[in-house]
Amino acid sequence: MAKRGLLLCVCQGTCPSFQKMNIFEVANTLRREKLVDYVAIHPQLCARDGDQFLGTLLAGGGTDHLYVAACDPTMQVKMFRDALREAGFSEEKVFGVDIRNMSTEQAVAAIKALIQVPEAER
Ligand code: SF4
Repeated sequence: MAKRGLLLCVCQGTCPSFQKMNIFEVANTLRREKLVDYVAIHPQLCARDGDQFLGTLLAGGGTDHLYVAACDPTMQVKMFRDALREAGFSEEKVFGVDIRNMSTEQAVAAIKALIQVPEAER
């Protein structure tokens, strides 16, 4: 069965851009509503161990779509490209949303909007 995962990344939790939200409440809201099959928070996906995390997570083929709520989606694609390629996971199946400078409620709404876009409209 198609699995949809959501990763949240918040620049180690120290960046001012993520101070307005409670990232755990963002994660909890979305997992409670079962909009995705799994939710995880990573402190720094664009660091080397973030690459390793992505590779380990995606290499097994258990994820069909990956949503990433973090910084600018264009930058995300560039930063994750090598890890995705090594894992054999297509960039086309990764959907990013920028949640910087948002409140908890705004971040939840932005992520929901991303997840609920019909595939044909992406
Ligand atoms: S992926 Fe984006 S949000 Fe995450 S640590 Fe890197 S720059 Fe920050």
